[in-house]
Amino acid sequence: MMNSGRREFLVGTGAAMAILGRARTANAGAATGPSKSTGAGQLSVEVMRLKLRHTWTTVMSSSDYRETILCRYSKDGVTGLGEGAPIKRYDENAKDALAKFDASPLRALFQSGDPWRHESLLGEMARLMPGQYALKAAISGAIADWIGQRLGVPLYRYFGLDPDKTPITTMSIGIDTPEITRKKTQEAAEFPVLKVKVGLDTDEATIEAVRSVTKKPLRVDANEGWKSKEQALQKLNWLADRGVELCEQPLPAAMLDEARWLRGKSRIPLFADEACKSIHDIPRLAEAFDGVNIKLDKCGGIFEALRMIHVARAHKLKVMLGCMISSSVSIAAAAHLSPLVDYADLDGGLLIANDPYRSMTAPAGKITLPDRPGLGLIPVENRGQGHP
Ligand code: MG
Repeated sequence: MMNSGRREFLVGTGAAMAILGRARTANAGAATGPSKSTGAGQLSVEVMRLKLRHTWTTVMSSSDYRETILCRYSKDGVTGLGEGAPIKRYDENAKDALAKFDASPLRALFQSGDPWRHESLLGEMARLMPGQYALKAAISGAIADWIGQRLGVPLYRYFGLDPDKTPITTMSIGIDTPEITRKKTQEAAEFPVLKVKVGLDTDEATIEAVRSVTKKPLRVDANEGWKSKEQALQKLNWLADRGVELCEQPLPAAMLDEARWLRGKSRIPLFADEACKSIHDIPRLAEAFDGVNIKLDKCGGIFEALRMIHVARAHKLKVMLGCMISSSVSIAAAAHLSPLVDYADLDGGLLIANDPYRSMTAPAGKITLPDRPGLGLIPVENRGQGHP
């Protein structure tokens, strides 16, 4: 059973972040080469509360804070960190996830399980815990970070990937008034491509506001907001004329026949996001979309995302790596896989004001991976006390 005394609700206070930072720093020195595992593993999960830089609005919701799940896995003097952002669209939230974790045998599983045999260990986790993909992503990330630290290699190297082949990440512009949309677009001047949230009656005003500030390429995400194939086609034609290069999830996920029709007529590529939740969705999406948006929080973590990328490639689909609003812990896990994909939308950490860690950077939008073991996280001290 969960020792509830070990849980911490991190509300962005300096004290909480400093505790995390010290724990991380103390373990960093133990990241040497592999050796025999000794002793029991320790797995803990916490809720992390992230403050948004701007109120974030999409077709689905509007909020100033987001809660994600932070996992720590410790063994042999090394602590790995992982994060997952529960997705409302799939009825997940952080408090439910922790309650399910409390009631599950996962703590005992990871106490006695061998992290070097992570295929078996995480497979057993999947069997024991239906759903709860954000929780699984947090735990998988912590195991991956631990492995990388124990081996003394960055995760991209563990997966055999070329860090020079990372894509450019878009910066997302949430739905807002034209005035704030212009301001956000100006703030994103460093990014060569923007992703703009659409899917409402205000789409044209939003795009005109962005276009009043910049001529750079745009991608849009309708988040299932257009309700008929005819309306979606009309929107896509209008957007194509304004330099939009692709569109995510123009129609509700269940409208697969309509998506197939739309793909035959659209002048820009269409990507499945909400319709692409698990690896099993990919084969049937291949005729209705040009690509898929894979997110670690949505599919259950870094190892599952890697499998999905390969399955998508086998079906000749383009691949985007996306994210939810989350800290650098989650973003780093996705970034280490990014040399494998065509497009990246890994800006979740840039949308928050109290990121407790840093890892990947994105100068001029180019994902730049840290040459540090595991996820390569470095704690940002005192972030919660109002420091920049
Ligand atoms: Mg999307």
